[in-house]
Amino acid sequence: MRPLSCETVIKTLSLFLLFSALAAAAQSNSSNPVDAIFPDVRSFYVDLHEHPELSGHEVHTASALAARLRAAGYDVTEHVGNTGVVAILKNGAGPTIMLRTELDALPVEEKTGLSYASKVHALDDSGREVPVMHACGHDLHMAAIVGTAEVMARTRDSWHGTLMLIGQPAEETIGGAEGMIHAGLFTRFPKPDVAVALHVSNELPAGMVSITPGIYNTNSDSIRITIYGKGGHGAMPQTAIDPIVIAARTILALQTIVSREVRPGEMAVVTVGYIRAGTKNNIIPDQAEMGITVRTFKQDVRRQILASITRITKAEAAAAGAPREPWIERYEGTDLVYNSPELAERLRAPLEAALGKNNVVTAEPIAPSEDFSYFVEQGVPGFYFSLGGADPEKFAQAKASGTQLPSNHSPFFAPDLDPALRTAIVAEIAVLRNLLNASPEELHKYKAEPPAE
Ligand SMILES: [Zn+2]
Ligand SMILES: [Zn+2]
Repeated sequence: MRPLSCETVIKTLSLFLLFSALAAAAQSNSSNPVDAIFPDVRSFYVDLHEHPELSGHEVHTASALAARLRAAGYDVTEHVGNTGVVAILKNGAGPTIMLRTELDALPVEEKTGLSYASKVHALDDSGREVPVMHACGHDLHMAAIVGTAEVMARTRDSWHGTLMLIGQPAEETIGGAEGMIHAGLFTRFPKPDVAVALHVSNELPAGMVSITPGIYNTNSDSIRITIYGKGGHGAMPQTAIDPIVIAARTILALQTIVSREVRPGEMAVVTVGYIRAGTKNNIIPDQAEMGITVRTFKQDVRRQILASITRITKAEAAAAGAPREPWIERYEGTDLVYNSPELAERLRAPLEAALGKNNVVTAEPIAPSEDFSYFVEQGVPGFYFSLGGADPEKFAQAKASGTQLPSNHSPFFAPDLDPALRTAIVAEIAVLRNLLNASPEELHKYKAEPPAE
């Protein structure tokens, strides 16, 4: 046998070193922190999805989320504004960055046919029994925040500062964010330098995210109107003043606000979402109630529409000889969510690096509203972005055939779980790491409020 030459020894040694390096790389790949936590986070999602709770009643949801975050090493405070959860992880000097998830589900009967579909019924605030479903995807947001929390805690050498994770109640009824602020969210805990949130939808395929620099969504106003008439026998209308007819005329007249009064091209929606009146076909009731939602981008258009609703409603009642002026109440409202444009552009690069350049797109503002604006209005620059939830194949088919996939709040809404949840975690980590490697001064240049009109 020939003795090994020096060259052979070096070659063998090099090969050995190369194989060791490859093996180490493969190992570090399989111990990717997102892979490591994913199965557990996914089962948390399934559990949340099977057990949804209505807005303001997120008792078990909040305690399950709090327990997970505590187990991940966070300092957790519960009951911050009803069922609100605040989890803090301090990791040296640096900025404070907040990431928010919602906790609540909706009164919707699930029809997805999934093995883990919700069968839950609960009493709503008016005491009616209603079906309950996570039809807006807040269960996915919660599972993602838990995954992100665990990875951020395990990779503390990759960032510095304070990470603040919050579970916000009652987003769907608008009030949860305000409740947490009133309960001392930014006084009992550090006030963040930037606030981040995402929302899943079927507007994008799973695996992708979209960024909307500037205005993200609309101002929203909820209005309740009671029209008064005079009750009587359905066969003797001459003795009555029919509030149903007044309501019907009012609804049609309200539709002329957007089409005839608002300048063409301005964002404006006026929808009468419900009308309630009467008990029986041969009775003219003495009042009718209706609920309206108004969506706008601009404050002056918003004021114009609200004034027009009042004017038209009062005038229709007067025209019918109603015995009393209608009662018009703006019972809920929220301002639009504003994304500091420079901040959104800053975060495009880390998202592209984490998800691939083609998986980060720019999107137009959307109409659904959100009370994340309350956090931003406290002077905290916000980054609110969209997460793809659609099965990519179904998304492509729908695009090709010009059909719509089920939207959020639909009984059929079901995100393509694995890619959507994984993308949410990867995206959140990328955004948080970027911000938690900045100095607070660097982040203070981003503006929370839109420029004056
Ligand atoms: Zn929703
Ligand atoms: Zn939602």
